[in-house]
Amino acid sequence: MGHLDGYPMLIVSAALNDWKRTNPSASQIAGGSWRRSVLEATIDYYVKIGDRMPLLRGSLIHKGFEGFRSPPGVKLIREKTMRAHLPKFPEMRLSGTIDLYYPVAKRIEDYKTCTKMPKQVKPAHVWQLATYAWLLRWNGYAVSHGAINYQSWRDCLQLSRTLDENGSEISIAEAKLFYDEQFFVQETGKAWTVLKAGYRDYDIPSMVKCNTNWCRGCAVKWACDQIDRWGEIIDPADYNHEDYV
Ligand code: SF4
Repeated sequence: MGHLDGYPMLIVSAALNDWKRTNPSASQIAGGSWRRSVLEATIDYYVKIGDRMPLLRGSLIHKGFEGFRSPPGVKLIREKTMRAHLPKFPEMRLSGTIDLYYPVAKRIEDYKTCTKMPKQVKPAHVWQLATYAWLLRWNGYAVSHGAINYQSWRDCLQLSRTLDENGSEISIAEAKLFYDEQFFVQETGKAWTVLKAGYRDYDIPSMVKCNTNWCRGCAVKWACDQIDRWGEIIDPADYNHEDYV
Protein backbone atom coordinates (compact mmCIF):
# COMPACT_ATOMS: atom_id res chain seq x y z
CA MET A 1 0.00 0.00 0.00
CA GLY A 2 1.25 3.55 -0.53
CA HIS A 3 0.49 4.20 -4.17
CA LEU A 4 -2.19 3.61 -6.77
CA ASP A 5 -1.15 3.45 -10.42
CA GLY A 6 1.87 5.59 -9.63
CA TYR A 7 0.14 8.12 -7.34
CA PRO A 8 1.09 8.53 -3.67
CA MET A 9 -1.62 7.25 -1.31
CA LEU A 10 -2.13 10.61 0.43
CA ILE A 11 -2.71 12.34 -2.92
CA VAL A 12 -5.27 9.70 -3.89
CA SER A 13 -7.00 9.97 -0.53
CA ALA A 14 -7.16 13.80 -0.64
CA ALA A 15 -8.29 13.85 -4.26
CA LEU A 16 -11.18 11.47 -3.61
CA ASN A 17 -12.24 12.95 -0.28
CA ASP A 18 -15.61 14.64 0.26
CA TRP A 19 -17.49 13.55 -2.83
CA LYS A 20 -20.49 11.94 -1.13
CA ARG A 21 -22.62 14.35 0.86
CA THR A 22 -26.20 14.64 1.99
CA ASN A 23 -26.50 18.42 2.33
CA PRO A 24 -25.66 20.92 -0.43
CA SER A 25 -22.43 22.85 0.19
CA ALA A 26 -21.94 26.57 -0.42
CA SER A 27 -19.61 25.83 -3.35
CA GLN A 28 -22.07 23.37 -4.95
CA ILE A 29 -24.92 25.90 -4.65
CA ALA A 30 -22.86 28.78 -6.02
CA GLY A 31 -21.11 26.66 -8.66
CA GLY A 32 -24.30 26.29 -10.68
CA SER A 33 -23.39 22.81 -12.00
CA TRP A 34 -26.22 21.18 -10.07
CA ARG A 35 -26.81 18.22 -12.43
CA ARG A 36 -23.13 17.32 -12.20
CA SER A 37 -23.02 17.77 -8.39
CA VAL A 38 -26.03 15.46 -7.98
CA LEU A 39 -24.65 12.80 -10.32
CA GLU A 40 -21.26 12.88 -8.58
CA ALA A 41 -23.02 12.32 -5.26
CA THR A 42 -25.39 9.54 -6.37
CA ILE A 43 -23.66 7.18 -8.81
CA ASP A 44 -20.34 5.33 -8.74
CA TYR A 45 -17.84 6.40 -11.38
CA TYR A 46 -14.16 6.26 -12.18
CA VAL A 47 -12.00 9.37 -11.99
CA LYS A 48 -8.51 10.16 -13.21
CA ILE A 49 -6.47 11.45 -10.31
CA GLY A 50 -4.80 13.92 -12.68
CA ASP A 51 -8.21 15.53 -13.34
CA ARG A 52 -8.53 16.26 -9.62
CA MET A 53 -5.20 18.10 -9.41
CA PRO A 54 -6.63 21.65 -9.85
CA LEU A 55 -8.84 20.99 -6.81
CA LEU A 56 -5.94 19.58 -4.86
CA ARG A 57 -3.74 22.52 -5.83
CA GLY A 58 -6.40 24.85 -4.36
CA SER A 59 -6.38 22.86 -1.10
CA LEU A 60 -2.57 23.01 -0.94
CA ILE A 61 -2.56 26.79 -1.39
CA HIS A 62 -5.27 27.18 1.27
CA LYS A 63 -3.24 25.06 3.67
CA GLY A 64 -0.20 27.24 2.93
CA PHE A 65 -2.11 30.44 3.77
CA GLU A 66 -3.26 28.91 7.05
CA GLY A 67 0.40 28.80 8.12
CA PHE A 68 0.96 32.55 7.52
CA ARG A 69 1.07 34.61 10.72
CA SER A 70 -1.31 37.56 11.19
CA PRO A 71 0.44 40.95 11.53
CA PRO A 72 0.77 41.95 15.24
CA GLY A 73 -2.29 43.80 16.54
CA VAL A 74 -4.55 42.88 13.60
CA LYS A 75 -7.56 40.90 14.75
CA LEU A 76 -8.62 38.26 12.23
CA ILE A 77 -10.93 35.29 12.04
CA ARG A 78 -9.36 32.67 9.77
CA GLU A 79 -10.45 29.27 8.47
CA LYS A 80 -13.51 29.19 10.73
CA THR A 81 -16.43 26.90 9.89
CA MET A 82 -19.83 28.58 10.36
CA ARG A 83 -23.24 26.93 10.29
CA ALA A 84 -26.77 28.32 10.03
CA HIS A 85 -30.09 27.56 8.40
CA LEU A 86 -31.94 29.83 5.99
CA PRO A 87 -34.29 32.07 8.03
CA LYS A 88 -37.79 30.50 8.22
CA PHE A 89 -36.43 27.27 6.62
CA PRO A 90 -34.87 25.22 9.44
CA GLU A 91 -34.45 22.19 7.16
CA MET A 92 -32.22 24.19 4.79
CA ARG A 93 -28.92 24.06 6.62
CA LEU A 94 -25.80 25.74 5.27
CA SER A 95 -22.21 25.53 6.35
CA GLY A 96 -18.97 26.96 5.06
CA THR A 97 -15.43 27.73 6.11
CA ILE A 98 -14.59 31.43 6.20
CA ASP A 99 -11.09 32.00 4.81
CA LEU A 100 -10.54 35.46 6.26
CA TYR A 101 -12.68 37.99 8.15
CA TYR A 102 -11.55 41.37 9.52
CA PRO A 103 -13.97 42.21 12.40
CA VAL A 104 -12.90 45.87 12.65
CA ALA A 105 -13.31 46.51 8.91
CA LYS A 106 -16.36 44.16 8.71
CA ARG A 107 -14.73 42.70 5.64
CA ILE A 108 -14.69 39.13 4.32
CA GLU A 109 -12.17 37.63 1.88
CA ASP A 110 -11.84 34.29 0.15
CA TYR A 111 -8.95 32.68 -1.75
CA LYS A 112 -9.45 31.20 -5.21
CA THR A 113 -6.87 29.54 -7.40
CA CYS A 114 -6.92 30.12 -11.14
CA THR A 115 -4.73 29.66 -14.20
CA LYS A 116 -5.64 33.05 -15.74
CA MET A 117 -6.46 36.11 -13.66
CA PRO A 118 -10.05 37.32 -14.18
CA LYS A 119 -10.82 41.02 -14.70
CA GLN A 120 -13.74 41.00 -12.25
CA VAL A 121 -14.94 38.62 -9.56
CA LYS A 122 -16.79 35.71 -11.20
CA PRO A 123 -20.56 35.44 -10.45
CA ALA A 124 -20.16 32.02 -8.78
CA HIS A 125 -17.52 33.49 -6.47
CA VAL A 126 -19.82 36.41 -5.58
CA TRP A 127 -22.54 33.91 -4.60
CA GLN A 128 -20.11 31.84 -2.53
CA LEU A 129 -18.73 34.93 -0.77
CA ALA A 130 -22.31 36.14 -0.15
CA THR A 131 -23.08 32.76 1.44
CA TYR A 132 -20.14 33.19 3.83
CA ALA A 133 -21.21 36.79 4.52
CA TRP A 134 -24.74 35.63 5.49
CA LEU A 135 -23.34 32.76 7.59
CA LEU A 136 -21.25 35.35 9.48
CA ARG A 137 -24.19 37.74 9.87
CA TRP A 138 -26.54 34.97 11.08
CA ASN A 139 -23.85 34.09 13.66
CA GLY A 140 -23.67 37.66 14.97
CA TYR A 141 -20.86 39.24 12.89
CA ALA A 142 -21.41 42.35 10.76
CA VAL A 143 -20.18 42.22 7.14
CA SER A 144 -20.01 45.32 4.89
CA HIS A 145 -17.34 44.54 2.29
CA GLY A 146 -15.97 41.56 0.42
CA ALA A 147 -13.08 40.64 -1.87
CA ILE A 148 -11.65 37.58 -3.61
CA ASN A 149 -7.91 36.94 -3.60
CA TYR A 150 -7.18 35.19 -6.91
CA GLN A 151 -4.02 33.14 -6.85
CA SER A 152 -2.16 31.69 -9.82
CA TRP A 153 1.29 30.10 -9.75
CA ARG A 154 2.79 33.39 -10.95
CA ASP A 155 0.82 36.12 -9.22
CA CYS A 156 -1.91 37.10 -6.77
CA LEU A 157 -4.59 39.71 -7.28
CA GLN A 158 -7.27 41.01 -4.94
CA LEU A 159 -10.54 41.92 -6.68
CA SER A 160 -13.66 43.44 -5.18
CA ARG A 161 -15.54 44.47 -8.37
CA THR A 162 -17.94 42.32 -10.35
CA LEU A 163 -20.56 42.72 -13.09
CA ASP A 164 -24.28 42.95 -12.38
CA GLU A 165 -26.97 41.29 -14.53
CA ASN A 166 -26.87 44.31 -16.92
CA GLY A 167 -23.11 44.07 -17.39
CA SER A 168 -22.36 47.18 -15.29
CA GLU A 169 -19.40 47.08 -12.94
CA ILE A 170 -20.29 47.19 -9.25
CA SER A 171 -18.55 46.41 -5.98
CA ILE A 172 -19.28 43.05 -4.31
CA ALA A 173 -21.02 44.98 -1.53
CA GLU A 174 -23.51 46.26 -4.16
CA ALA A 175 -24.32 42.75 -5.46
CA LYS A 176 -27.92 41.84 -4.59
CA LEU A 177 -26.97 38.41 -3.21
CA PHE A 178 -24.52 40.15 -0.85
CA TYR A 179 -26.78 42.86 0.59
CA ASP A 180 -30.39 41.67 0.10
CA GLU A 181 -31.22 38.92 2.59
CA GLN A 182 -34.61 38.08 1.07
CA PHE A 183 -33.13 37.73 -2.42
CA PHE A 184 -30.23 35.61 -1.11
CA VAL A 185 -32.63 33.28 0.73
CA GLN A 186 -34.89 32.98 -2.33
CA GLU A 187 -32.06 32.12 -4.76
CA THR A 188 -30.14 29.89 -2.36
CA GLY A 189 -33.36 28.15 -1.28
CA LYS A 190 -34.12 27.26 -4.93
CA ALA A 191 -30.64 25.78 -5.43
CA TRP A 192 -30.74 23.96 -2.09
CA THR A 193 -34.10 22.35 -2.97
CA VAL A 194 -32.87 21.11 -6.38
CA LEU A 195 -29.64 19.68 -4.94
CA LYS A 196 -31.33 18.09 -1.93
CA ALA A 197 -33.96 16.39 -4.11
CA GLY A 198 -31.06 14.98 -6.13
CA TYR A 199 -29.10 13.69 -3.15
CA ARG A 200 -32.14 12.29 -1.31
CA ASP A 201 -34.51 11.11 -4.09
CA TYR A 202 -32.05 10.68 -7.00
CA ASP A 203 -34.00 13.37 -8.83
CA ILE A 204 -31.45 14.42 -11.45
CA PRO A 205 -31.82 18.11 -12.41
CA SER A 206 -32.20 19.40 -15.96
CA MET A 207 -29.10 20.15 -18.05
CA VAL A 208 -30.29 23.76 -17.90
CA LYS A 209 -29.14 23.59 -14.28
CA CYS A 210 -25.55 22.88 -15.25
CA ASN A 211 -22.67 24.93 -16.58
CA THR A 212 -22.18 23.17 -19.91
CA ASN A 213 -18.78 24.87 -20.40
CA TRP A 214 -17.47 22.09 -18.17
CA CYS A 215 -19.02 19.13 -20.05
CA ARG A 216 -15.78 18.19 -21.83
CA GLY A 217 -13.94 17.32 -18.61
CA CYS A 218 -16.99 16.00 -16.75
CA ALA A 219 -16.36 12.58 -15.15
CA VAL A 220 -20.08 11.70 -15.13
CA LYS A 221 -20.84 12.72 -18.73
CA TRP A 222 -21.38 9.06 -19.70
CA ALA A 223 -24.31 8.93 -17.21
CA CYS A 224 -25.57 12.43 -18.02
CA ASP A 225 -25.88 11.38 -21.68
CA GLN A 226 -28.29 8.54 -20.71
CA ILE A 227 -30.62 10.76 -18.67
CA ASP A 228 -33.41 12.96 -20.04
CA ARG A 229 -31.94 16.40 -20.68
CA TRP A 230 -34.85 17.96 -18.73
CA GLY A 231 -34.15 15.74 -15.74
CA GLU A 232 -35.64 12.54 -14.30
CA ILE A 233 -35.62 10.34 -11.21
CA ILE A 234 -33.09 7.54 -11.63
CA ASP A 235 -32.10 4.31 -9.90
CA PRO A 236 -28.33 4.71 -9.31
CA ALA A 237 -27.93 0.91 -9.57
CA ASP A 238 -28.80 1.19 -13.29
CA TYR A 239 -25.66 3.28 -13.94
CA ASN A 240 -22.56 1.14 -14.21
CA HIS A 241 -19.53 3.05 -15.47
CA GLU A 242 -17.89 -0.16 -16.71
CA ASP A 243 -20.61 -0.46 -19.38
CA TYR A 244 -19.45 2.86 -20.86
CA VAL A 245 -15.64 2.66 -20.83
S1 SF4 B 1 -21.95 16.43 -18.96
FE1 SF4 B 1 -22.26 18.65 -18.76
S2 SF4 B 1 -24.47 18.90 -18.38
FE2 SF4 B 1 -23.93 16.75 -17.97
S3 SF4 B 1 -23.51 16.66 -15.78
FE3 SF4 B 1 -21.55 16.97 -16.81
S4 SF4 B 1 -21.25 19.20 -16.85
FE4 SF4 B 1 -23.43 18.83 -16.39
